[in-house]
Amino acid sequence: MRKVMSISWKSCWLKNWCLDLLFPKYCVVCQRIGWNYLCLECLSKVRIERNIHCPNFHCKRITQFGNYCSQHRRKSGTLTGVLSLSNYKNRVIKELIHYLKYEGVKELVGELNKLNLSKIREQIITKKSILIPVPLFQRRENQRGYNQSLEIARIFSQNFKLPVEDRIVGRSRNTKSQMQIEQDSDRIVNIKNAFKIINQKTDKLKNKTVYLVDDVTTSGATLQELAKTLKELQHPPRRIYGLVLAKR
Ligand SMILES: [Zn+2]
Ligand SMILES: [Zn+2]
Repeated sequence: MRKVMSISWKSCWLKNWCLDLLFPKYCVVCQRIGWNYLCLECLSKVRIERNIHCPNFHCKRITQFGNYCSQHRRKSGTLTGVLSLSNYKNRVIKELIHYLKYEGVKELVGELNKLNLSKIREQIITKKSILIPVPLFQRRENQRGYNQSLEIARIFSQNFKLPVEDRIVGRSRNTKSQMQIEQDSDRIVNIKNAFKIINQKTDKLKNKTVYLVDDVTTSGATLQELAKTLKELQHPPRRIYGLVLAKR
């Protein structure tokens, strides 16, 4: 049995090696040919945020766990705070998100494992927390072949030892990309009522801290709307945070 497994592993390794030789990968940022979709040099340019300030765009107040400060908490509705891995101004993160979202390079998500995630781990409440990826409209997920937020959530799950739950809330309608909309007020209208509870009876989130996982957040409107939907559960979570790759 062991022999069969070792042969199949070797043949799989060999197959991948041959494929890499025939169809070499290239770094999506600097286009350098190599063994990965992000070269080590580009990877080293990702600046990981410390997330010790209020997530409001115009606020620099120091807070813990990425919480909104007392001034912005009232306006933030149901979301306690937002943690982001990096900033969208960082070219490497920007390209990584673009290729993951629009070019179908799903394997890129594995590059996140190579980043030093300890700064963000320090800010995450790991006790009784659950990761929920922002759901994608089914038709769009079928076109892409995957939901990038679920793929990112799986990486966070491995690194932070937190479970992923993607069967409680879904998308009720397709929406225009939030990144294509300029005004904050238009983003709120665009995403309004875009989510629906698909498992109302669950008590899996009761008294838990939920982290809503997404690739990028602009004004937080998507995260707010999803948090609002989760609060409609018969057994809603205690606290809801956003956890994203980049903040714009
Ligand atoms: Zn590169
Ligand atoms: Zn603030």
